[in-house]
Amino acid sequence: MLYIDGEWRGASSGSSFEVINPATGDPIGDVADGTREDVVQAIDAAAEAFGSWSRLTAFQRSGYLYRAYELMMERKEAIARLMTEEQGKPLKAARNEVQYAADFFLWYAEEAKRVYGEILPAPRSDQRFMVLRQPVGVVAAITPWNYPVSMITRKVAPALAAGCTIVLKPAEQTPLCAMEVFNAIHDAGIPAGVANLVPTSDPVPVGEEMVTNKKVAKITFTGSTEVGTMLAGRAAASMKRLSLELGGHAPFVVFDDADPVYAAKGASLVKFLNTGQACISPNRMYVHKSISSEFLGVLEERVAKMKAGNGLEEGISIGPLVDSPSLEKVDRQVKDAVAKGAELRIGGSRLTDDGLDRGFFYAPTVFAGVRPEMEIYTNETFGPVAPVIEFENEAEVIELANDTTYGLAAYVYTNDLGRGMRMFERLDYGIIGINDINPTAAAAPFGGTKYSGIGREGGKEGIAEYLETKLGGFSI
Ligand code: ADP
Repeated sequence: MLYIDGEWRGASSGSSFEVINPATGDPIGDVADGTREDVVQAIDAAAEAFGSWSRLTAFQRSGYLYRAYELMMERKEAIARLMTEEQGKPLKAARNEVQYAADFFLWYAEEAKRVYGEILPAPRSDQRFMVLRQPVGVVAAITPWNYPVSMITRKVAPALAAGCTIVLKPAEQTPLCAMEVFNAIHDAGIPAGVANLVPTSDPVPVGEEMVTNKKVAKITFTGSTEVGTMLAGRAAASMKRLSLELGGHAPFVVFDDADPVYAAKGASLVKFLNTGQACISPNRMYVHKSISSEFLGVLEERVAKMKAGNGLEEGISIGPLVDSPSLEKVDRQVKDAVAKGAELRIGGSRLTDDGLDRGFFYAPTVFAGVRPEMEIYTNETFGPVAPVIEFENEAEVIELANDTTYGLAAYVYTNDLGRGMRMFERLDYGIIGINDINPTAAAAPFGGTKYSGIGREGGKEGIAEYLETKLGGFSI
């Protein structure tokens, strides 16, 4: 269903599209298929609501967001189950995501009250300067399927806290999760038109309207670098503000002063999280030559114990890939690496036994001896493949790690404090985990350098993206 101007309704075309469970291939629901005409209506509703929403007090907006947080928490289990069915991640990971998603409502319920202005020193004695921070206006948001709930709240919560109104287009694979977030928004009593949802099976016309409609002041997008750069180009003509959270190709560096067993444990946990379908997933594991065989042994052992399957079942740690093109992309990269001489330690093929052929499952895979000419070395995999590469010294590995167009996340294992600090400073990435595989939280700024994007989500930075700075000069 579409949620426009406070009401759930069908699409103007009257058509709908099917949503598939990627673990079973079974349809799990039909969703109204939004059109360009529908998104125009949603933008009109958001523009209409902007005046009154932006003029509420920060305390009032905060109250609504806090209520949305409470509703998400009350519905945590149901939303998590739906997420597992629609997106595929194991239930435990889905629960963690709902918590993370709800945290954005809570954090921005608080941050809404901390949008401060400033009084500046003025050059003349009869002059006063004042700075106001005001909402940018109507926001158009486009979100991906890999974190189908938290990627929505990470945009909606700060936008609404700042006083903006929003129109959101979720990914075509996961509109049902998006509807749950908007159910919470509706039930929290957030006024009509403030937040609008337009699911669609064809993102192109809806996206085109969003980036060209003059009533839209800002585009916030999470997805591929390819689509993000295209949207940014289109949005430039009407001078829209932009936040882009795009692809990554995270290095994972393990120094010889680190414990290879602990590092391999971290690698196995973060690499296979969400079946590798995360923009902060490690894509190149640089391990010091002197400890690489121990690291690989432990990693392989841990991967051998991972169980793939339907995430609603007990003990599953690897869910399916989201769809068949994703499966083909992973398989192509794996075959390319094998053909170019990488050493396949475990995995390396689609999983089809015990009914897994109905879904899009790929075996968790570990490669040693990965080299720069292999596709996997430079292209984002978005799948359960861990490529291991040996290195010899710090200067060399900094250069290798930074040698990519991406700059989202990087991970380092070291027990040398100075080295940890040097890596933190010299790696050209927006997020650095030092002996830490989960450097994300609602309170922390998330985002990348280079082709990984523009702007930050989360933290105090996250709300600043939705605020315009206004200077007032007063002669007294
Ligand atoms: P992914 O590879 O993660 O699916 P995409 O960038 O293709 O990355 O998708 C992320 C989001 O961008 C989804 O909501 C998708 O529908 C949307 N999207 C894809 N192509 C376009 C487009 N041409 N215009 C607007 N949105 C798009």
